[in-house]
Amino acid sequence: MAAPAIRLNDGATIPQLGLGVFQVPARETARVVAEALAIGYRHVDTAQMYGNEAGVGEAVAASGLARDEVFVTTKLNNGNHRPDDARRSFARSLETLGLDHVDLFLIHWPRARQDPDGYVAAWRVLEELARDGRARSIGVCNHDPALLDKLLTRAKVVPAVNQIELHPYFPQAEMRAIDTSHGIVTQAWSPIGGSGGGGGMRARGRTLLAEPVLVDLGEKYGRSPAQIALRWHVQHGVSPIPKSVRPERIVENLQVFDFELDPDDMAAIDGLDSGVRGGSAPDAFNA
Ligand code: NDP
Repeated sequence: MAAPAIRLNDGATIPQLGLGVFQVPARETARVVAEALAIGYRHVDTAQMYGNEAGVGEAVAASGLARDEVFVTTKLNNGNHRPDDARRSFARSLETLGLDHVDLFLIHWPRARQDPDGYVAAWRVLEELARDGRARSIGVCNHDPALLDKLLTRAKVVPAVNQIELHPYFPQAEMRAIDTSHGIVTQAWSPIGGSGGGGGMRARGRTLLAEPVLVDLGEKYGRSPAQIALRWHVQHGVSPIPKSVRPERIVENLQVFDFELDPDDMAAIDGLDSGVRGGSAPDAFNA
């Protein structure tokens, strides 16, 4: 079982589906990532903020896989946007991961209170890291159209990836179209609704994986609601990074490349858009 690779705008490739490790406790991370690598995952998404880069590195080292067979992403913490902080923290990430390069380095959150536009200066450091090869690809997270526009007017390198909250209750059609127009791959965080059950919809008594449209389609295709949601991402050309600590779900979440949703069913899932996000708005301050 393996996720197919999709091409980034810098010529690199990324396995379309990866394992997210947000909220995976540090002491469990090596076990969880090892299980994922053993069953065929080749893409892991961590962050300085998650406090579990060491476990990711440990599992990659123990896997027996060649370094270029595993795609590792980490992210610049919100308080580290100043250029010297960005350089120092990136070096620390490599050390903690036990790697000499990462495959993708992302700005985790655009707006930090101490310097609202500091993400643009941080981007210059990511451009340096891409030039010297320690970050093979670079990208951003949580950019809305205005933030991306501002970055692009000052950037030398167009981000390879924009990782945003994206699931059937918050499908981000506009942002996806803008990303595509720049050759940017959109990655989906909380692709199956997150631990909150589907963004702001939980407050309305609905959770994504209990959503009747997904449950009914699951019956039609003989798949779980999570697999239906993940397949919807895949068919939209999005790169989802579902998180699980449970072996059976880690397996289930990768088994989405051997069936196809009909156009009408894709449209039915598109129709679940609630306009309600679960996380903060991208232009809100974080840290
Ligand atoms: P997900 O949409 O991946 O949902 C994870 C939740 O769903 C967990 O509670 C998990 O529980 C459960 N789950 C996993 N698989 C299944 C399944 N097959 N059936 C039922 N339940 C399941 O949300 P996340 O918010 O974790 O997002 C995924 C990844 O995105 C993160 O891990 C992180 O890497 C990244 N992320 C990035 C952000 C950013 O700002 N750039 C913000 C948030 C996340 P269990 O573990 O018990 O299985």
